[in-house]
Amino acid sequence: MHLYIHIPFCKQACHYCDFHFSTNTTHKRAVVEAIAREIVLRRSYLPDGDMETIYFGGGTPSMLSEAELNFLLETIHRQFRVAPHAEITLEANPDDLNASSLQMFAKAGINRLSIGIQSFHEPHLRFMNRAHSAMEAEQCVGLAQQAGIDNISIDLIYAIPAERHDILLSDLSKAFTLNVPHISAYCLTIEPQTAFGSWLKKKKIKPIEEEYAAQQFEILVSSLRENGYEQYEISNFARNGLYSNHNSSYWKQHPYLGVGPSAHSYNGASREYNVSNNAKYLEALQKDIIPTTIETLSAADQTNEYLLTGLRTKWGVELQKLETLSAGGFGVQAKDALERMTRKGWIREDSGILVLTQAGKLFADRIASDLFID
Ligand code: SF4
Repeated sequence: MHLYIHIPFCKQACHYCDFHFSTNTTHKRAVVEAIAREIVLRRSYLPDGDMETIYFGGGTPSMLSEAELNFLLETIHRQFRVAPHAEITLEANPDDLNASSLQMFAKAGINRLSIGIQSFHEPHLRFMNRAHSAMEAEQCVGLAQQAGIDNISIDLIYAIPAERHDILLSDLSKAFTLNVPHISAYCLTIEPQTAFGSWLKKKKIKPIEEEYAAQQFEILVSSLRENGYEQYEISNFARNGLYSNHNSSYWKQHPYLGVGPSAHSYNGASREYNVSNNAKYLEALQKDIIPTTIETLSAADQTNEYLLTGLRTKWGVELQKLETLSAGGFGVQAKDALERMTRKGWIREDSGILVLTQAGKLFADRIASDLFID
């Protein structure tokens, strides 16, 4: 079983971000209490079993106080049986990490950190409106390791408009010196509802060139591979098999419960989407109502979701499972597209499993959508 907790607060708005968060923390304590209430109300959402992963995402969960974090963890332990070696991840920003906060996280039971470093290049951090400095980005990992948290992932962003690759190479070489077992690297995307989206509309910034992004992706993948990181998902790289168990559960279509404003849940047959508004979330939970929208998944939805997430991973997708999910529709509807992708050298079949080739990884989402069924 897997649990996601969305903490919808941030110190400031990064210019590229379209996640749900608020920079007004007046009601932080009340929202934390509402999330705890939702955990209680939703304790039967998942079938019985041990909670194997718990993930505090956001927003910025490292803004939680010791009392708030412990309160949420105590609530979780009261409602669920947490596996003895459960992976408990907290997303953190470098400016929140110091010796005392890290000791507090470790003491509370956090055994994995996902740190939003994004870049070690000061002008890029300022361009994206990150709240931390390049120096804080370089120092926070060492501090976490000293506090006894070794299972660390760092996030990096590539294809930041600079039209040069040396900054990415320098970011990567700094990342390698930190000796972290996991790196997530995401291509900068410009979403309409963000500061970058509005600047793009006003022509204050240029769109990100596809070719530049593809070149950066190739540099990234080869550099990570040369330094011992396995690309187990398009954007995720691990050393020594230290994958993110929580995120892997999403990609493998395991059921999970998501609590907090904007969190999603999945039980195999439907998805639920919590309201992306802190005030509406609070108001509903104060009346013991879960403000969620339920979407029942059709056979085609389930098949297409499996393709979209599974093809991005090293585990690929099982042909037999595609047939089962689509009630026999996949083989018939996707036959031509599959032959075309195979001829292009983008996909291959190995003992009933479809996986993307290295060339295909550049077009993962497009390949999946070409294989979608109706
Ligand atoms: S800290 Fe994270 S969630 Fe908050 S605005 Fe920046 S990218 Fe978005």
